[in-house]
Amino acid sequence: MTPFCSFLSAAAAGDDDIFPRLVVPVSVIVVLATHLATPMAGNGMKLELSRVINGRSRLGVLKGIGRTGQHSLEVPGCLLYTHLGTVPHLTQDTLHTVSNLPSVTQVTLSNIAEHHEVLEHFKDGFRKFAGLHDTVLYCSLHDPAAPCPTGYTTNKTVSVWGSPGRIELTVAKFMALQKTVQPDWYQSMADGETWQNNTSRKRVQKSVNRTLAHLDECLLVHQNSQELEGVEVFGVVEGGDILEERVRSARETAKRPVAGFCLDGLQTGSMDQDLRNQLTAAVTKELPEDKPRLLQGVGHPDEVLACVEAGVDLFEGFFPFQVTERGCALCFNFDISPDPERAGRAPRAVLELNKEDDAARDTEPNGELDLDQTQTMYFEINLKDKRHQDDFRPLVEGCGCYCCMNHQRAYLHHLLVTNELLAGVLLMIHNTAHYLSFFGAVREALAKDRLDLLKRRVLGKRGGMDTSAKEPRD
Ligand SMILES: [Zn+2]
Repeated sequence: MTPFCSFLSAAAAGDDDIFPRLVVPVSVIVVLATHLATPMAGNGMKLELSRVINGRSRLGVLKGIGRTGQHSLEVPGCLLYTHLGTVPHLTQDTLHTVSNLPSVTQVTLSNIAEHHEVLEHFKDGFRKFAGLHDTVLYCSLHDPAAPCPTGYTTNKTVSVWGSPGRIELTVAKFMALQKTVQPDWYQSMADGETWQNNTSRKRVQKSVNRTLAHLDECLLVHQNSQELEGVEVFGVVEGGDILEERVRSARETAKRPVAGFCLDGLQTGSMDQDLRNQLTAAVTKELPEDKPRLLQGVGHPDEVLACVEAGVDLFEGFFPFQVTERGCALCFNFDISPDPERAGRAPRAVLELNKEDDAARDTEPNGELDLDQTQTMYFEINLKDKRHQDDFRPLVEGCGCYCCMNHQRAYLHHLLVTNELLAGVLLMIHNTAHYLSFFGAVREALAKDRLDLLKRRVLGKRGGMDTSAKEPRD
């Protein structure tokens, strides 16, 4: 019996242990059985793991991705973050000065939904519309770098927020958009409004049930759609901060014929790191080994490391954009090689930077910063700061990016204070390059058993993760 058949039998038998809340009418089950008992049409995306450390941290390659199956993506890794297919501030030419770009580009329905009619008229899909020819296109529901107001989901709809405001999506509308966008992967429709602390248990259960129901409806449409042949669906794991609901959501989603999993509702700001680690580890334990797990809304380097240790494979790459928008440059150290002079990684210079920033923090007027500000400040330098006006060093000594090879901090400071658009371009180049190199270091650390060393490098004198622990609710 295939996993999906067992899921259907459990549902049909009303097995409350396996299938506690979701109510599926028999007619739907019959239709689902007809259309979904066969494996999903895809091009055989395959996750090949070369190492699994402590039963959780995974090193490997996602092979055969994209409709033609010619792309691959190393894990742990991140996706290329875009606004409507464009990396903010960068043209395709400037973007390609950065080496080792991810093979998967993320676009979000919140950006695209308002252009549905134009895309329908265009007919050839979003990739061609945005001039993205050689990339795997992943379509998510929300923009991880944009706020998403809550309180607008119903049993049948979710809302996304674009420039004209709120757009309400039913499954039919959601799937019509996917047919027009023509991505290679997409995130199934989900009720993700339970990330705030202390969301009621009833609301969290409803979110898990709705998300499973949305997934089943999406899969049903997907199977009957020629336009989506070869396209992969990622199921969404919800469950707020309630352990039991997280586990139920993971188990039930894993029974469906999905290619991978999105872990939603664990984003930065929703909960402390220790609680996120516990919930993430509990979820990944329930998921099949051979499918990728994408964590949404987490980008800080220390959080990435903790989540890799909890079994996450993929991250959304929005963090360099947020750093750029603050007028800052990533500068944290991730060198674990015995050769400190290696291009793009210069521990001495970065340690110097960290020392400078520590000194600057010590002289803050009130001597106090909130935790979040301290966390972000630790990884970056603020180029708007006056102390950089006559600083003629590159952003990071030894970095091989176009910005660091050609410009100094003093020039970036000048561009920022005069509001020149070039500031965003140069910072985005450096921040993207630095962040992608960090992911390279994570993979190298996993391959060479140096994850503890990498954590010490990245966390610097803080020495450890935030352990102001909160327990998951069970
Ligand atoms: Zn650089």
